[in-house]
Amino acid sequence: MPVNEIDAPQQISADHFIPHIPGVIFQLHRAHSGHMRFPYLKGGGVALKYIDCDLLALNAGPLVEQLTGNDHPKIMSAIEHSARLMLPLKTRFRLSLPKGEPHWIAVSASPKPVSDGVQWNGMMMDISDHVAEEQRLRKLSDTDPLTELPNRRRLMGHLTHVASLSARHGTPLSIMMIDIDHFKRINDRWGHLHGDDVLRQLATQAQTLMRREDMIARLGGEEFMVVLPLTPLQQCHALADRLRQTISAHDFGMGSGHVTLSIGVAEYRCGEPLTSLIERADQALYSAKSVGRDCVRLLR
Ligand code: GH3
Ligand code: MG
Ligand code: MG
Repeated sequence: MPVNEIDAPQQISADHFIPHIPGVIFQLHRAHSGHMRFPYLKGGGVALKYIDCDLLALNAGPLVEQLTGNDHPKIMSAIEHSARLMLPLKTRFRLSLPKGEPHWIAVSASPKPVSDGVQWNGMMMDISDHVAEEQRLRKLSDTDPLTELPNRRRLMGHLTHVASLSARHGTPLSIMMIDIDHFKRINDRWGHLHGDDVLRQLATQAQTLMRREDMIARLGGEEFMVVLPLTPLQQCHALADRLRQTISAHDFGMGSGHVTLSIGVAEYRCGEPLTSLIERADQALYSAKSVGRDCVRLLR
């Protein structure tokens, strides 16, 4: 057989395999007027079943309207940024489809100036599985498995964020440091498994008293911390005392009065290091322990 018959490159038309690729390749055009359209949009995957490519060839609007939440401004500003600086367009967005949860779509495209605007050549991939796995791992890394409360790591990230908002806007921010009294005795008397149950029930009870914007986290062992944005010290103290009374009156399965809390509260001082704030709440907690437990102390 002549060699060139074996090696001759086959002419494969892209139209044969593009409908079977796990994604979409596209050309997006944005005119100077801002009008956008997809002159080319082809590929495989579930999303295309619900998309009218002929319509999008004239006007990208209907696809943009399927974006959920705040993805619309996000993608518009990514497009604007890419067009202005001629940098690759790389972002992700959620696309609502008629059935089920919105799908996460990653988009990656290169911009090119054309006479009447900007044109991108790129691809989109459905990354919903990947995003679900990311979310599962993130939850695993910042959640306490026993109580399902945020853990110390997540709380510190949150505290850093709300402290910077408090400093910027001059709004109050307080924290509570909570420790179960004589928890070792509870374990010794009722068993470690019952101790675990007390921790879980305490988490549930505390959450029902908090507002949506408050975050309660398990720092470790029988220690918890609550971050209360927009809350001055006195208000935090009152809430801490309500929590203390609720827990002391609650029957954790061995009659009420067996589980009590000592709580230290402190208020953020604009610009101070978070370690100082936590240190003050810790000292207040220590003071609550030293005056006999089952009480709330504050440190100004
Ligand atoms: P105090 O009033 O001074 O805080 O006394 P305490 O007994 O609560 O404090 P201590 O630090 O002596 O003991 C804490 C106990 O918490 C000891 C430890 O076995 C228990 N503990 C820590 N983590 C867990 C947990 O996940 N489950 C259970 N059941 N017990 C835990
Ligand atoms: Mg402790
Ligand atoms: Mg304790």
